[in-house]
Amino acid sequence: MNGSIKTPPAPVVTGRKQLPRSSTMKAAVFVEPGRIVLEEKPVPHIGPRDALLRVTTTTICGTDVHILRGEYPVARGLTIGHEPVGVIEELGEAVTGYTLGQRVIAGAITPCGQCHACLDGHQAQCGGKALGGWRLGNTIDGCQAEYVRIPDAMANLAPIPDDLTDEQVLMCPDIMSTGFGGAESGRIRIGDTVAVFAQGPIGLCATVGARLSGASRIFTVDAVPERLAMSRRLGADDAIDLREHDPVATILAATGGRGVDVAIEALGRQETFESCLRVLKPGGVLSSLGVYSGKLSLPLDAFAAGLGDHTVVTTLCPGGKERMRRLINVLASHRADLRPLVTHRFTLDQIEQAYDLFAHQRDGVLKVAIKP
Ligand SMILES: [Zn+2]
Ligand SMILES: [Zn+2]
Repeated sequence: MNGSIKTPPAPVVTGRKQLPRSSTMKAAVFVEPGRIVLEEKPVPHIGPRDALLRVTTTTICGTDVHILRGEYPVARGLTIGHEPVGVIEELGEAVTGYTLGQRVIAGAITPCGQCHACLDGHQAQCGGKALGGWRLGNTIDGCQAEYVRIPDAMANLAPIPDDLTDEQVLMCPDIMSTGFGGAESGRIRIGDTVAVFAQGPIGLCATVGARLSGASRIFTVDAVPERLAMSRRLGADDAIDLREHDPVATILAATGGRGVDVAIEALGRQETFESCLRVLKPGGVLSSLGVYSGKLSLPLDAFAAGLGDHTVVTTLCPGGKERMRRLINVLASHRADLRPLVTHRFTLDQIEQAYDLFAHQRDGVLKVAIKP
């Protein structure tokens, strides 16, 4: 060790970086129950830790339909949407490691990455409040717009590899993360038998997640023929149409009365929750993804009066850039391809039409791609 003291390099001072653009934009705004309309709004201002994205593709979620119907309250005037794919337009002074013009996604859940809940591994519950990590289109303006502000950019922006298109990664921010999360929380082991109740976009992603996790037999349940067909295409072994067969009796018979190791609930209703419990073996895991309203009750016979060693676990969409990086890798390595879920395409100008189609589940719609 010698005694010479080296002067540390001067810190690189970078001002705010941004591309030229107009000061207003189009955005899908919640006006009142029953009305989400396209309005002209100011482009969001960003803080030192934020980024501004120019949205290149986004989509509509079932949760947005609950907002539209007034079943999930948000502030009037809020821009809706929490599934952004875009290009970095502006970076706050404190953000490093990204460049203007870079293609990125952010999760539906944008945790701060610094608070006790985040550092404890519960990023979706950021700040220690239930759902605290869900900001976009909930507590701050969302991404069904030409531009969106992403808070805590360094915790949330994940670069998109050049060889993946917007539509290939469009499911990462929410439904892929949520559906896969249901399989992961269910602690599926290689060789497990799994049942997934409801095959909407999230249930379908749970089916893909169960397959990737090593399930050797997957039962799926729905009443919509297109969804059952997609379910088979994405990995279900037995897709049960509940209009024709009693799913509980069918699954119990097919497993020799043993029941499944893991049951995933992807709808948020008493009937599906209860059916999950009725097909679950003692010691099995009920992994719940649904959003329930009112009251949920436990049928005590199926719950073995509380003595069946059952595990009931819930999952909110995991977010943050590390989660997004992993999901992108699943797509880049061709372990999964979720492009078949994008069934319809609209421009941002047509978003009211897109809501109408999606909310009424017309024309076999699964997910819509919205291009500002
Ligand atoms: Zn969503
Ligand atoms: Zn946090």
